[in-house]
Amino acid sequence: MPVGNVTIGGGAPVVIQSMTNTDTADIEGTLQQVYMLAEAGCEVARIAAVDENSVKQIGIIKRYSPLPLVADVQFDYRLALLSIEEGVDKVRINPGNIGGEDKLKKVALTAKDRGIPIRIGVNTGSISTEMLKKYGGPTAGALVESALRTVDCLERCSFYDMIVSLKASSVTATVEAYEEISSRIPYPLHLGVTEAGKGWKGIIKSSVGIGSLLLRGIGDTIRVSLTGDPLEEIYAARDILQASEVRYFGPDIVSCPTCSRATIDVSGLVDRVEEMVKDIDCPVKIAVMGCPVNGPGEARHADIGISGGEGFGIVFKEGKVTKKVNLENLCAVLETEIREIVSAKEG
Ligand code: SF4
Repeated sequence: MPVGNVTIGGGAPVVIQSMTNTDTADIEGTLQQVYMLAEAGCEVARIAAVDENSVKQIGIIKRYSPLPLVADVQFDYRLALLSIEEGVDKVRINPGNIGGEDKLKKVALTAKDRGIPIRIGVNTGSISTEMLKKYGGPTAGALVESALRTVDCLERCSFYDMIVSLKASSVTATVEAYEEISSRIPYPLHLGVTEAGKGWKGIIKSSVGIGSLLLRGIGDTIRVSLTGDPLEEIYAARDILQASEVRYFGPDIVSCPTCSRATIDVSGLVDRVEEMVKDIDCPVKIAVMGCPVNGPGEARHADIGISGGEGFGIVFKEGKVTKKVNLENLCAVLETEIREIVSAKEG
């Protein structure tokens, strides 16, 4: 399904999204953040359509945006209509607050006319009172039924360009809801754990929720919702996708946790290797291990690795020692070997 020049679903690579947290009316500031997100690896950006004025700003931002833009609409369906007129690439509506079916139909018909998709963004924080009563709270069942009702309404308008999300702040409710809906509808799914929190805690919640779904083959686009700088969302999203082995953005550096057998500064070496391979986007696996006792064997799945020896460093490939080098030359030798492997892989 096209969202601007990006494809979501249908076997396309899982797309990374984020949302600006600037004042939408601040065109320059918002556009600057969109550019920073794009630079970090974001592929689709969402912007809050707060009122009529901000929707007009989104129209201007869209003209200069390096990324497809999604208007995030809450409560007022007219803002969705205006956003579509302003040329956004997708609108996100919240079925819990967009109003009745007649309003939803107007949005669907306008989106259909302009050929853009709609995301049905169900959220535990805004589930209808009826659903809360029926399910006894914001459960996975309530999320799924809320989404299915909206899907049904759009289908009755012969509108099928939809993407669905069912976000809860509970990881288990999120996973349960996505598992259920993935077996009920054919539309692409936008994954995320809502209100995941700040920093480590938010990243861990998102990783567990999004990662476990990706490992089940569920999900077409993701957003890691974090309190703070949205660039952190992109770094986390890339690492989640790479750890789940659904997309690769560069080398995978594995390293041992170290123990009393370590004969080198593993932590310092990992920092140096990370810096050294920043420019490489080939999925080469590099191991940094503390000692020759277990290092090469434990990291036998790596394309290339180093470990400490007794006063020297060891270079190994696929579990076999290939070189012994002075510790001061270890990083330089590793870099040469990595770049040879990358050249060979890239043909
Ligand atoms: Fe300890 Fe060596 Fe294993 Fe690292 S590789 S954890 S130093 S035994």
